[in-house]
Amino acid sequence: MLDESLDALVTAANDGITFDGLEVTPTNGSYTVAVDGESATAATDAELRSLVSDHPDHVTNWYFWHAVAPQKQDRWSFLRWLEGANERAVADRYERLEAGIVETWGQLRIEVALVDTDGNRRYSLRHEDDAGVPGEELDTHTDPLDARTLAKHDDDGRYRPLKTAPSLQTGWQFPDLTADQVVSAVDFFYPATSSNWHKEREGELDVSHWHETVERQTGIYGVVETWDRGEGYEHVNWVAEACCDDSQCLKRREWQYDEETELDIDGGDGSFPCREPCSLVISAARKWTKLEGEQPATYEFELTPSEKEQIEAIIDAVAEGKTEEIREADVYDDANRYRTRFLRAKLFDDEGNLCGVDTEQ
Ligand code: SF4
Repeated sequence: MLDESLDALVTAANDGITFDGLEVTPTNGSYTVAVDGESATAATDAELRSLVSDHPDHVTNWYFWHAVAPQKQDRWSFLRWLEGANERAVADRYERLEAGIVETWGQLRIEVALVDTDGNRRYSLRHEDDAGVPGEELDTHTDPLDARTLAKHDDDGRYRPLKTAPSLQTGWQFPDLTADQVVSAVDFFYPATSSNWHKEREGELDVSHWHETVERQTGIYGVVETWDRGEGYEHVNWVAEACCDDSQCLKRREWQYDEETELDIDGGDGSFPCREPCSLVISAARKWTKLEGEQPATYEFELTPSEKEQIEAIIDAVAEGKTEEIREADVYDDANRYRTRFLRAKLFDDEGNLCGVDTEQ
């Protein structure tokens, strides 16, 4: 490919080239060539060709980014970010690419490596938890579209309604993708994350805050609007804390209550931004809106101090998704299944009322 790259570069040199430490400036039929700051002059196209061929990495690098990599700006930027192209000089980058440069995107481990001396890259993709697993132990995929199927269920076969939840299944790999294919696969795993990341970097992320998103809701979701009644925004803090925390979603929440009112809850540390409340959040908020419309009532229960603490621990374990980690034999854990069954046997009446207290007063 070097010949092809050289031909293309000499043709492009008429318009001048400034890219990754390579500069070619046409001046009255000759060229000034600078590579990483060192200058020389070429009087003809043939001399230019000969001069730059002494810097094959710069030539193939230029060619890759102008003729091989997708030219759509967001895809191009994402791929540049993957190999740290804006921070690393070509020599350093090529040395690292020999061994492979690894980046993480959500739970994806993306590796880019040079496959030949012509600057061609190969991209491989797997779950970050499978980093050290031999390739032959993973299911191999070649079509980026397969990512859409893999993203549907977690390791236990449960449907994942939120594609950016940190529950991506393991056990698969895409060992050999092209530049275009790897961005497609990433987009199938985490829709629109690379383009929103790019927009954010360009200062063009169009954030739709809670208030304006809820205002747009119509039909059955319009009920959420009743929650947006100017009585403060504490409930929206609870929504964000419940759903958008890093433990529940890998996106970094950028939406707030409205343009002027920031929520009190941190947006998280995700690599890619969340630009508006998602359908899962709106759907959950719809349920909460109804529940929060109820009037509080006073109930009287008799609990031992340990029972009160146990109920708190059970709520915490469910909220943090820890119930499956608690071993059956660990009866010292307040949220242990046998401990919980004992509590239910002791405190519930035949109708399932806590301490026999009716819900309806
Ligand atoms: S609204 Fe929250 S849960 Fe939904 S995608 Fe954004 S950050 Fe994640």
